[in-house]
Amino acid sequence: MLVPATISKLVCVGRNYGAHAAELGNAIPESPLLFIKPASAVQPLALGQNNPVFMPTELGACHHELELTVMIGTELTQCTAEQARQAIAGIGLGLDLTLRDVQEQLKKDGHPWERAKAFTGSAPLTEFIPLSDLGGELEQLTFSLHRNGQLQQQGRVQDMLFTIVDLIVEIASTFSLQPGDVIFTGTPAGVSALHVGDELTLTLPTPTGSYEWQVAVVGR
Ligand code: ZN
Repeated sequence: MLVPATISKLVCVGRNYGAHAAELGNAIPESPLLFIKPASAVQPLALGQNNPVFMPTELGACHHELELTVMIGTELTQCTAEQARQAIAGIGLGLDLTLRDVQEQLKKDGHPWERAKAFTGSAPLTEFIPLSDLGGELEQLTFSLHRNGQLQQQGRVQDMLFTIVDLIVEIASTFSLQPGDVIFTGTPAGVSALHVGDELTLTLPTPTGSYEWQVAVVGR
């Protein structure tokens, strides 16, 4: 189990699953759609605990976007696909909390997304598991989100429009990556508005069992 010693940034990928782009009426991008959240967005989630997650309640709908997250272990700028793969220190899960009404207005106005995506606490984030403990096959990973006992989101790495390795190469050449930086690899379909009191379970299966994180949604 790994936790980054320092996170300087979270780099997030938009529209990396065709079904999610379609559910919001967005076109599929020709190159990865990237944005950044600051380290102050992180709300740590710990295995074996009931983790309160704070959400804004006075700014319209706050959507959950469950995403596979990648912790980077080495500095990267221009890199090869093999170097990108070697730089993966661990795999976790994160919620890219999104103020959807705020985002829609920002998009209409042609403004940046940060107010909707990068606010304090907008990135609940689990610990990271070494890939070897998850079966070792990046392309075979799956993950899911249950809300109040109902399956809400289910993702498969093989359905990504841009692979994790391709994303790391692109992000490294654009922003550079430091040890401890985290990539949010995009959300599968099934996003919806959270409510105070919702109980979430984030699941990362392995060949021999599952990692599960429990979340209780709390108003700010
Ligand atoms: Zn997202």
